[in-house]
Amino acid sequence: MEVDVLLTCNSTLMSNYHGKEFLGFGSSAPPNWLPEFLFRFLFFPKMKKINGLPWQAPYGLRKMEAKLIDEGISAIVVDSDDVQKYNARVIGIYVMDAFGWGPSSTTFAGIMKTGEPYLAKYFRKLLESRGYKKLKEKGAKTIVGGPGVWQFRYKPNFLDKYGIDCVFDGEGEVAVDLIKKAIEGKNLPRFYEGNRFPSIEEISTIKRATVNGIVEIGRGCPRHCEFCSVTMRPLRWYPYEKIEEEMKVNESYGVDSCILHAEDVLLYGQKGVIPDEEKVLKLNELAKKHAKYVSWSHASFPAVASNKKLIEKLSEILIDENQKWWGAEMGIETGSPELIKKRMPAKAKPFKPEEYPEIVKEASAVMTDNNLFPACTLITGLPEETEEDVIKTIELIEELKDFKSLIVPLFFVPMGKLKDEEWFRKEKMSDLHKELLIKCMRHDLKWSKKIINEYFHEKNIIIKTLYLLFMKIIEWEGKRWLEKKTI
Ligand code: SF4
Repeated sequence: MEVDVLLTCNSTLMSNYHGKEFLGFGSSAPPNWLPEFLFRFLFFPKMKKINGLPWQAPYGLRKMEAKLIDEGISAIVVDSDDVQKYNARVIGIYVMDAFGWGPSSTTFAGIMKTGEPYLAKYFRKLLESRGYKKLKEKGAKTIVGGPGVWQFRYKPNFLDKYGIDCVFDGEGEVAVDLIKKAIEGKNLPRFYEGNRFPSIEEISTIKRATVNGIVEIGRGCPRHCEFCSVTMRPLRWYPYEKIEEEMKVNESYGVDSCILHAEDVLLYGQKGVIPDEEKVLKLNELAKKHAKYVSWSHASFPAVASNKKLIEKLSEILIDENQKWWGAEMGIETGSPELIKKRMPAKAKPFKPEEYPEIVKEASAVMTDNNLFPACTLITGLPEETEEDVIKTIELIEELKDFKSLIVPLFFVPMGKLKDEEWFRKEKMSDLHKELLIKCMRHDLKWSKKIINEYFHEKNIIIKTLYLLFMKIIEWEGKRWLEKKTI
């Protein structure tokens, strides 16, 4: 089949992770003692196809597909295994963490024996596939885009080796002219920064289903943490009508879940940092109207703490006979008010940085009471982080022992305003950092088993048993690792 633009990604991204996005973290791990076929089945199973096309695909690819079609360009999202079935002038590849240098991959590499993480391995496999090589021989141009493109600047030889013509950094909608040039066979810049940010009207509505029914409700974040690349983007919220259109698309493809995507779903429709109760309730009612299971991509502790009654009301909307809990990714980042002041001055707002640890504790109690179970992140190794900062984070984690959650420490990777700073690598870990890692591991082992029991529905009984078995093995390995430590 002939198209102008073939859009794809590696197999770790073309998965619905058994309906549980959080399992996608597993693809950042290097190959380990679990056979690859079983690891893949557990953490990034193959996506089902309908008429030869992926049933669901990553949101970024679907957005690009829609924009190109709206611009009169023939574009299609395909599974990486099917690239060989197409002729195309341009291959667009979506990348998240091309070389395994992202925060979760580097943390895994810090605690497991090193090796190329699965997501990097499968990216390379795509570029070494027969289908990709065939298209290159016929002269197709390759453009890579997505949140992981910053990594290519550190590895320019890789571009030559695999025939990558252009690395696009920015929001996909502003890449259309670049793609038109590629279709015409013109030379492309090796690196292209899309410094313009599209307006809401320029952003197309998806035409086919997204992974787990993910639907964007807005872009940008008002908190401006220095280590985050989202900081650079202006804040924009979509109107309900535009959001509902995408929910309907997913519903029409039989996707019965919906993940509301924003950097803080609780701030929907707001310029500031205090949730608008009416808007957030309406948004979640809308999602529940079109999907059985509703989750959020991200939310923040201060937004939860600023209106605790709102979480109770949301629980009444979302929790029903279909869903017993809902999830979100939430950044604790640190327990140190000093570090908050230095690196993330708006993180605690509308509260003061000094109040932040207390805010996290208050919000965690509200979430546990109302069945919001988050996957939380910490950031370790930030520039100018002191021993005192790490101690305060350790103390906070100890106080969160009853918080039903996962807490994942991530190593600092230079991004956002700190892109010129030094990486934090496992060689730089102090005993305090190790103690923090151990505390998180203990917290996660304790809660993982309980969460797995609630994560999977009855029909997933085999998978549920496999995960429980997997947790037993991790527990056993973890105990051995702890015994070797002298902390
Ligand atoms: S709150 Fe999260 S998304 Fe917003 S700037 Fe900070 S790290 Fe980035």
